[in-house]
Amino acid sequence: MTATESLIAEAEAHSAHTYHPLPVVVASADGAWMTDVEGRRYLDLLAGYSALNFGHGNRRLIEAAKAQLERVTLTSRAFHHDRFAAFCTQLAELCGMEMVLPMNTGAEAVESAVKTARKWGYRVKGVPAEMAKIVVASGNFHGRTTTIISFSTAPEARADFGPYTPGFEIVPYGDLTAMRAAMTENTVAVLLEPIQGESGVIVPPAGYLPEVRELTRERNVLFVADEIQSGLGRTGRTFACEHEGVVPDVYVLGKALGGGIVPVSAVVSSAEVLGVFRPGEHGSTFGGSPLACAVALEVIAMLRSGECQARAAELGEHLHRELGALTGTGRVTRVRGRGLWAGVDIHPRFGTGREVSEKLMDRGVLVKDTHGSTIRIAPPLVIAKEDLDWGLAQLRGVLGVQGAG
Ligand SMILES: *Cc1c(COP(=O)(O)O)cnc(C)c1O
Repeated sequence: MTATESLIAEAEAHSAHTYHPLPVVVASADGAWMTDVEGRRYLDLLAGYSALNFGHGNRRLIEAAKAQLERVTLTSRAFHHDRFAAFCTQLAELCGMEMVLPMNTGAEAVESAVKTARKWGYRVKGVPAEMAKIVVASGNFHGRTTTIISFSTAPEARADFGPYTPGFEIVPYGDLTAMRAAMTENTVAVLLEPIQGESGVIVPPAGYLPEVRELTRERNVLFVADEIQSGLGRTGRTFACEHEGVVPDVYVLGKALGGGIVPVSAVVSSAEVLGVFRPGEHGSTFGGSPLACAVALEVIAMLRSGECQARAAELGEHLHRELGALTGTGRVTRVRGRGLWAGVDIHPRFGTGREVSEKLMDRGVLVKDTHGSTIRIAPPLVIAKEDLDWGLAQLRGVLGVQGAG
């Protein structure tokens, strides 16, 4: 047995099988590259589902984390600490908002946004007790808690986890008429991904997000944008909503906010909305910890320069041009996405998404399949153009395009 085989067998024997990972065991990583326990190198075109937008082992982030590790890592919110104020001020400023509610994982931030919207509904909008409704979209992915999976439309995410949390209306993604019809005076929020990541990088029809913005404003409903995967540079802007000139009432952030080092998430909104909370009504032991704030502050500083966003826009254009050429060959039926983010539908004749992912792995490229026939490409935003081109050459090779790497 190789080291890879024995480590995978051991992991399978002693971990719940909630994932079906590719058979690679990573031992170290740097930038856009990972090295496995056998010393083989792989180009990372997944970037931890966008948690690694700034790459593996980013020096600025590692130094910020190290310095904070030596000072103080956790105080709990029972006390103030000296990184908290700057984190909240600067994150709010980056979002053009006023207040921050810090949490850890994305799912926790979504849960917190649901609680925020309901409390705002009762305390500000005047919705009768227990009547608050939140409109969500089909094909959504917002996390794995019991409440969140209650409004998932993915059977495997829901099966045998009931009873489900009530209070959600599901409408087709991209369908404004259905959304308008689903709204009542008890609707407190619309919760949407501006681009649906897990669904296969689904970009809504042009004009949809501005229409949602207008409708929610008209009806005094909060527009909650889950930018956990789409935000913080991935699409070539700080937020995917910006492509449509939309400013939501609430941003939900996570993934890249923790720099790939610690889980850091947040709900960011106005003082009217996040001001609804009183002490004791919500909380988290690790949320807003000194270590989390130190890393996130460095992430925010990098985003403020706009460099990552510009790079994602520029390389993203290149990526989509190259992928577009593949659709011309018939191997790829469709490509969607924005910036350094693409969902690539493989023609079934050339293998399932999983098969293509495994063949790419054999050629030293790591991607993740989704929904049977789709592979998702989301490299760290710091990837070198030559590396991206090399990865794309491997994809052409796997799909049997003439003259490919
Ligand atoms: C990943 C993701 C989440 C959940 O984040 P976790 O950190 O895995 O809990 C929520 N919403 C979106 C859009 C995501 O991509």
